[in-house]
Amino acid sequence: MKFITEFRSSELAEGLISQIHRKSKTSARFMEFCGGHTVTIFRYGIRRVLPSTIDMVSGPGCPICVTANADLDKAIALAQIPEVIIATFGDMLKVPGSHSSLQEVKANGADVRMVYSTMDALKIAEDNPGKSVVFLGIGFETTAPTIAASILQAEENGIKNYYVLSLHKLCPPVIRAILDSGEVKLHGLICPGHVSAIIGSHPWEFIAQDYGIPCVVSGFEPLDILQCVNMLVAQIENGESKVEIAYRRGVRPEGNQQALKLMEEVFETCPAEWRGIGEVPDSGLKVRKEYQPFDAEVAFDIDPGSPYEPEGCICGDILRGVKTPLDCWLFGKVCTPESPVGPCMVSSEGSCSAYYLYGGDFEG
Ligand code: SF4
Repeated sequence: MKFITEFRSSELAEGLISQIHRKSKTSARFMEFCGGHTVTIFRYGIRRVLPSTIDMVSGPGCPICVTANADLDKAIALAQIPEVIIATFGDMLKVPGSHSSLQEVKANGADVRMVYSTMDALKIAEDNPGKSVVFLGIGFETTAPTIAASILQAEENGIKNYYVLSLHKLCPPVIRAILDSGEVKLHGLICPGHVSAIIGSHPWEFIAQDYGIPCVVSGFEPLDILQCVNMLVAQIENGESKVEIAYRRGVRPEGNQQALKLMEEVFETCPAEWRGIGEVPDSGLKVRKEYQPFDAEVAFDIDPGSPYEPEGCICGDILRGVKTPLDCWLFGKVCTPESPVGPCMVSSEGSCSAYYLYGGDFEG
């Protein structure tokens, strides 16, 4: 298939759905790790067309949602330093921290700018030599290489007023943490397509080998997801657990070596705090010592105060796959995309936002 319409063909979808119904005899719960997959699943009503043997749960694959309030508070505190310009992707603006949001501090005079790439942020730094520009490095393995490249570019161009607040998260370690917690019993994992385009499919092998859970890397179109579910069901019915790729047009087993090299050059792993999950060893990235002049954590004295979680918000439980947005009494009443209480309602890849926007097309 070459064109996007083919990945949305109802005829092909019907064929895959019949195959899944025919094959699936064993009850199984699959987790889609990635928020992008969650959105596709709800937008196209995929849960509704699957047999009753298959239960789907959403995982922690929305980088904004999993950023802990303590880290969001650091970004908001940085924005309030008079000579600082914050450069960030748009989704971050409305995310509530403990006491405020970037949007609120911007309304009160902080210089917070929405950018579309790290190159935009570098340009702002070049255009404002008397200011310090801090780019918010929030994302998974997908975004880390471009942010690493921006640090190398700043060094090469002698830009000394560009900094990164590195709040990156790495996906395989958090999956291990979720599986080790034993809170959710999983029988299959829909592995993230964009993350796997960078890291490849090999880093998921421990899930199949150590936990006996089938894994399939999926793309983001409805047929990708159906194909992925079909392959997971086939593994289960055949008593197999291995890692497969249903997204061959985007992912190679070895990943993108050039991007991995960039990440490795600039960042090193560190423990990271995940919303609702807590600290996970080796699941974060910090700027290496050699590039410390670009590390916002080192360059600024940040005092964000104590973090505080919004009362009643169960984003943490949703991100672990233990609860759904329908279990939150604030959902759709107090908390909506226009007036979000927690990050899962703000982010376009958040579960609460997906449930809210495509509600009625799913079972909770
Ligand atoms: Fe948090 Fe709102 Fe989702 Fe409830 S509906 S869990 S308050 S984001």
